Amino acid sequence: MAQDGLLIVISAPSGAGKRTVIERLRAQEPRLAHTVSATTRPPRTGEADGQDYYFLSRADFEAKVAAGQFAEWAEVHNNLYGTLTSELDRCLAADGEVLLEVDVQGMRNLRGLGYDLVSIFVMPPSMEELERRLRARGTDSNDVIAVRLANAEGEVAARGEFDYIVVNDKVERAADDIAAILRAERCRSYRQQP
Ligand code: 5GP
Repeated sequence: MAQDGLLIVISAPSGAGKRTVIERLRAQEPRLAHTVSATTRPPRTGEADGQDYYFLSRADFEAKVAAGQFAEWAEVHNNLYGTLTSELDRCLAADGEVLLEVDVQGMRNLRGLGYDLVSIFVMPPSMEELERRLRARGTDSNDVIAVRLANAEGEVAARGEFDYIVVNDKVERAADDIAAILRAERCRSYRQQP
């Protein structure tokens, strides 16, 4: 489905440093709107409801699924995550540029819905570095880290489904690469008004 505005979907295995790259990108690209996802994952220290995520109980999340309120949702690392249609529409209605952080299933679902999207996969420099970053974060238990590491392999294997792959060896360079992708996408002839 063609929509006004630019829909950018970014996925990465947990620990690839996607959040840091996106923070840097947003400083460079203030036009980017950012949907707030809903999740059943408990908040990490410093995370705020309505800002980092809408933190919901599983029952509340499932009620919204049943009511058809999600544009997409998926079970990731044993928790539910989803993009509310209201949130996506709010950002798209502004006719701006919208960034969505979803997992690989979320990207597939959004693409399946026919959204005209630009998909970017952020890769860690290596699986060893991924594990080191997950442990250094210090926010997750060993069990949670084990699940995230096991899932990372499958996510990395799916990178070829994305339009672009950006390796996060240095945050500045990764953010610059994504900014360059945005600049190129804005210049696509079919996005230009006649
Ligand atoms: P975290 O718990 O580290 O914040 O996120 C875990 C995973 O859930 C990441 O891969 C993240 O991209 C994914 N995720 C976050 N929000 C959504 C969403 O709305 N939909 C989907 N499908 N995945 C999401």
